[in-house]
Amino acid sequence: MSVQTPSRLISISEDCGAEAAARGFSAMAQSMVGSSILVIANEIRALQAQGVDVANMTVGDFDPREFPIAQRYKELLKQAIEEGDTNYPPPAGLTELRKAVQRHVARTQQLDYPLDGVAIVSGGRPSLYSTYRLLVDPGELVLFPVPSWNNHNYRDTCQVRVRAVQCGPETAFQPTADLLRPHISDARLLVLNTPQNPSGGVMTAEEVEAFGHLLVEENARRDRSGQKPLYLLFDQIYRPIVFDHHRHYSPVTLVPECAPYVIHADGVSKGFAGTGLRCGWLVGPPVIARKVVALLTHVGAWAPKPIQMATARFLDDQPALAEWELEMVRRVRIRLDALSEGLRRLKEDGFPVDFIEPQGAIYLSVRFDLAGRTTPGGELLRSNEDIRSYLLQAARFALVPFSAFGVAEAAEDGWSRASVGAVSVEQVRQAMPRLRAALEALT
Ligand code: PMP
Repeated sequence: MSVQTPSRLISISEDCGAEAAARGFSAMAQSMVGSSILVIANEIRALQAQGVDVANMTVGDFDPREFPIAQRYKELLKQAIEEGDTNYPPPAGLTELRKAVQRHVARTQQLDYPLDGVAIVSGGRPSLYSTYRLLVDPGELVLFPVPSWNNHNYRDTCQVRVRAVQCGPETAFQPTADLLRPHISDARLLVLNTPQNPSGGVMTAEEVEAFGHLLVEENARRDRSGQKPLYLLFDQIYRPIVFDHHRHYSPVTLVPECAPYVIHADGVSKGFAGTGLRCGWLVGPPVIARKVVALLTHVGAWAPKPIQMATARFLDDQPALAEWELEMVRRVRIRLDALSEGLRRLKEDGFPVDFIEPQGAIYLSVRFDLAGRTTPGGELLRSNEDIRSYLLQAARFALVPFSAFGVAEAAEDGWSRASVGAVSVEQVRQAMPRLRAALEALT
């Protein structure tokens, strides 16, 4: 019997499969929630589509017009394509890149990891996801500070229990070892991120060292009791972007004995302004890195081969890399300075505005203490969401409240993240009079 192919186009409807999927999704899929940042981004897109100029400080991404990647890196990317690096890379990554990362880590963090301790992955996320997945069983506990980036999503995808410990402005929203110590006894994984998304806070050397000691002490205790170890997922994706006296350290550099328990996540997304290039690396104990490679082989979360080759060459081009890092820090800094200068003036003039001086990453922690105020339209501002929405509509000043970063609604006190990766210095400056007028209009 011959098969008849239809003569007309078969149209698949938008809600195709929805009914079946409502019963068909796994418990994990059912528990996943959409990104609240994307909801805000859609609102901004709608305004922009109407021709409204918004100071968009919501996205944790770069606008390539404001933050193009290094010229040298661009050339190396073209070269890799020309040379035909377009087939599968090895599962652990190109040896050239793993060796380049090894040297880079030795130069920047004084750590000499074996080659098998370096796994190349497609950006920052696969390192985070696979660490959760491989070191924590469903139902076991993960400990992290809030605000923090994406941990509540890994809670859902990995079906783990979490304890989110609230941090405050006095430490630039970074945790201290003393704050987390009372919570570690039954945790399997501790997640730290410095320089931090969303606060821009950079952990001090003393705190990083204290966390290193905490890991060593806790694991010595667990060795004796037979309890499973406590690991540290150390997310340093913003590593080169630090300002003034702030410096980035690995706990392994300061307390080498904690090396068996530390997994570093790093990559080109932020430090190299290459979020769309999808190239990252996990550096840690080889026994763990090899498992990550095995897991991600089944997911296919490899970094594209030409990107790997170009990144290897760029990491090894010392002069180009050094020049780039200076330029990157400068570009971020002038935007954060324009923002903090504007906010400082408002604060000095008595407006209920606060912020933390730039420390690192591409973010500023900003507070608009406006709950209880009334808008010209007669609306009472109650929550951070009300405040965010008012600032967007009245001042075209777009932020993301810390509630999008795991902070409980009840703990909301007007603190938000301002990201400068997609704004020009002029856009930041031009937003300030609008912001002042919007604040003046409140009663
Ligand atoms: N860690 C942190 C702290 C981040 O902010 C991000 C990106 N927003 C990532 C990891 C993930 O980076 P990537 O886009 O490379 O997956």
